[in-house]
Order: sequence, then C-alpha cells, then structure tokens
Amino acid sequence: MKAHDGMYIGGEWRPAAGSGRIEVINPADEQVIGGVPAGTAEDVDAAVRAARAAFPGWAATPAAERAALIGALRDVLVARRTEIAETVTAELGSPLGFAEAVHVGAPIAVAASYAKLAASYAFEERLGNSTVFLEPVGVVGAITPWNYPLHQVVAKVAPALAAGCTIVLKPAEDTPLTAQLFAEAVHEAGIPAGVFNLVTGTGPVAGQALAEHEGVDLVSFTGSTAVGKKIGAIAGAAVKRVALELGGKSANVILPGADLAKAVAAGVGHVMNNTGQSCNALTRMLVHRDQYEEAVALAAAAVANYPSGDPRDPGTRLGPVVNAKQRDRVRGYIATGVEEGARLVAGGLDAPHERGYFIAPTVFADVTPEMTIAQEEIFGPVLSILSYQDEEDALRIANGTVYGLGGAVWAADAETAVAFARRMDTGQVDINGGRFNVLAPFGGYKQSGVGRELGPHGLGEYLQTKSLQF
Ligand code: NAD
Repeated sequence: MKAHDGMYIGGEWRPAAGSGRIEVINPADEQVIGGVPAGTAEDVDAAVRAARAAFPGWAATPAAERAALIGALRDVLVARRTEIAETVTAELGSPLGFAEAVHVGAPIAVAASYAKLAASYAFEERLGNSTVFLEPVGVVGAITPWNYPLHQVVAKVAPALAAGCTIVLKPAEDTPLTAQLFAEAVHEAGIPAGVFNLVTGTGPVAGQALAEHEGVDLVSFTGSTAVGKKIGAIAGAAVKRVALELGGKSANVILPGADLAKAVAAGVGHVMNNTGQSCNALTRMLVHRDQYEEAVALAAAAVANYPSGDPRDPGTRLGPVVNAKQRDRVRGYIATGVEEGARLVAGGLDAPHERGYFIAPTVFADVTPEMTIAQEEIFGPVLSILSYQDEEDALRIANGTVYGLGGAVWAADAETAVAFARRMDTGQVDINGGRFNVLAPFGGYKQSGVGRELGPHGLGEYLQTKSLQF
C-alpha cells in the first residue's frame, strides 16, 4: 500500500530523524502491506515546534475562515472516501462496507458538524460586568488508537481546529497508513503549514515524548485505561490540560416489556460490529430472569448473521481482530470465561479460518457479575449475558464495574427507559435503539475517562476562558 517514508511536519513530508520502522500487517491474511518510520523524541520536538510556530496565526484566523477550511477538509474526505475505506480495511481488517459507512462516514459527519459549529460558536459571552473570551488552549498532542483509525483522529483534530488550536498527532502503530492519508487530506484542504502535524511511532517512544513535551498544552488521548493513567500522571505533574477517552464494559439493559427480539438482535450487532473493537461496545447484556433463556437462544442464533472472512468480500460482516496480540488476548478471555463457569452458547476458541487473526462470534450465558468476562474489557467479538431479578438488581449489575462509557436501555416506552438510564453511572445511553449522534457529548464516567468529545462539548475541551471586567 502507498506509504510516506517521513513525517508530515510544517506542511511537508520530512525525513524521520531515526532509522526505526514500523511494519503494517493486514490482519486478514497476516501479510506485510507497508511500513512507516518509527518517530523519535527528535521528530516529536520538530513537530511541536512547527505547531507552536503556527499557533498565533491560526488562533488569530477568524472563526469563519477556520470553519471554511474544516469544510474543505470534509470535502476532501468525501472525495477520497473509497481510498480511505480500502486502507482502513487493509490495516484494520474491517469489512469494506462498514469501513465506508462508519469508519469514513462518521468522521465526514463529524468534520461537517465542526465546520458548522466553528462558524456559529459563541467564542465570547457577556456575564454581568464581564466579557468572557473562550480562547484556544494552544498546542494539542493527540494520541489515538487503531480501533477507529480515522474517526478517533477527526474527533480530536476537527474540534481542535475549530477552537484555533494547532496539533501534533501520534496515531496507533497498527493503523498509520490511514493517518498518513488524513495528513494528505489536511494538506489538500489548504490548512496552513504547521497547524496539523503527524509523527508516526510507538507509544512508549513517540507517544510518551509527545505527552511529556513542554511545548504541548493539552494532551488528548484515546486508548486503554492502563496507558490513560500514565498520560494522566504525566499531564498532572506538568499541570497540563488532559482529555482521556478510555475503556468500557457497557451494559445493555433489557427491561421487561421491551421488544426482546429486537433488543437482542441490536445488542448482538453492537458487539459484533468492528469485531467488538469499540470502546462503547455493549458487551454485557442484562436480561430479566423470566426471559433469560429466550434471550440466550435469540443471541446464540443471531451470530449466524455475522459471517467472517475476507473483509473485501461483500458477504463478510465480521473481520479479524487487529493483530496477533489482540487475538491472543481475546482468546485468553474466552478460556477464562469457560474456566470460571460461564456457559458457551456460540463461538469459542476454534479459529474460523486458517490464516488471519479471526475469532468466531462468541456468546456466553450464565455469566455472573463478578466473573472476569463481566468486569474486564475484552475488545473482541464476545458477548456476556447476565440475568437480573428486578430493576434494582439490574441497576446494581449495570453500575458494578470500574467503567462507565456507554450503555443501552430497552423498555416498553421511552419514559421507563429514560428513568432507568438516569440512574446509570455512564456517559452515554441509547434508549430503545437510539442511534449515534455527532453532536452528543461522548466520554466516560469513572475510569472510562476525563472530558468529552464531539459536538459543542467536545469543542469546549480545546478552549480556555479569560474574563475581562468592564
Ligand atoms: P494503547 O492504550 O496501548 O494505545 C493507544 C495509543 O496510545 C496508541 O497510539 C499507542 O501508541 C499509544 N501509547 C501506548 N503506550 C503509550 C505511552 N506509554 N505513552 C504514550 N502513548 C502511548 O491501546 P492499544 O494497545 O491500542 O489497545 C489495548 C487496549 O486498549 C484494548 O484492548 C482496549 O481495551 C483498549 N482500547 C480502547 C479504546 C477506546 O476507544 N477507548 C481504543 C483502543 C483500545
């Protein structure tokens, strides 16, 4: 696949400071499809300097002009949609249709929303005898994961651009080619040199150097809770702003009276989409004990709707997981589920294909709240179904993990579901199949994170306030 042998810094592709390389592997066939340079602290420093130099000019650019450039970026993403989707499919293994619709479709919608928001946002307000100015934080260090390689980038870059911040991005090791295409799109859109910079590299080297760099004013990180804690500590020590989008173990609560068949089918789909590699995947399905066996049978049957295989084949709905490490990790959780006494009703450890990091869509019944598979984020196509006795029991189970990112509630009517959802310790809840909204704040309660992405709340993360009394 096409790859740049350099870093996008100051509006051009520059040679990397070191000679280290990162190989990119297609998880569907385990073939090497390309490589990018592994950035060092020196590359990060050059990128931060470029971002800092560009900051005063970009911050002073009228919001309407910034909005127009974000709109131009959105247009380039639309024009290059197929090429980006094919790249996501090649390095992540996502089925091509899903890659086009979601991996590229969602960031296009997010970019469009920020083009609109930047033009209409109130960057100053009058409060009593004060005028409060909302000013850009400065240089943003963005560190992103591989699970939605374009969306995770756009969810940080678009609001940062709208706010008037400049950015250095360190994307995930597994999906740097999509990030390079994004840098090309930024260039093609005419966003001024130095406003957006890309340094590919590993987390412990390039990622850490970015988080620690004193020229970075805000670190925005999406990834594992373990690394998020490290980033939080680094930012805390330097009194630097930080935003953390971390893991989840989201509950899908099906209350009596809900349309059970619809709720179970949607719940299974939510876990299997992106091969379970979504931080807000609804991995714990909670069903009333009277409907439990019916729900288990429906879920076990529903996995037949997720045939795995070549992600470029239109019939494929389940791709591989991203790499061998994740495959082994997910398999480890499946083995633990069996060992701890959960009942395997679909899938399991048998690999569905000879090559590629595939895992069969897996459903566990008789899962109890304290089991490992009910507590820890698996990040694979594995659903745990738990039973509850009454609403209080369901709420206790739903809130009984260290996480609080997503969730869903199904009930006979929206009012009942909303009342339940208001008692959940989580940042987002879909009511009776409510769908993704680019304007809704996305982020976690508890150990799922700090801060919010998307919409006006996401824009607010990149702003700081100054009040003048007169
Ligand atoms: P990760 O946290 O290791 O990596 C995320 C990003 O952080 C990558 O760009 C990585 O290079 C960087 N990074 C890693 N170590 C770093 C360090 N010490 N300093 C600075 N940056 C560092 O996550 P992963 O390996 O991609 O996935 C592992 C687990 O993380 C998954 O199984 C899942 O539980 C979770 N995850 C969550 C999300 C989410 O959206 N919340 C996304 C991907 C992964």
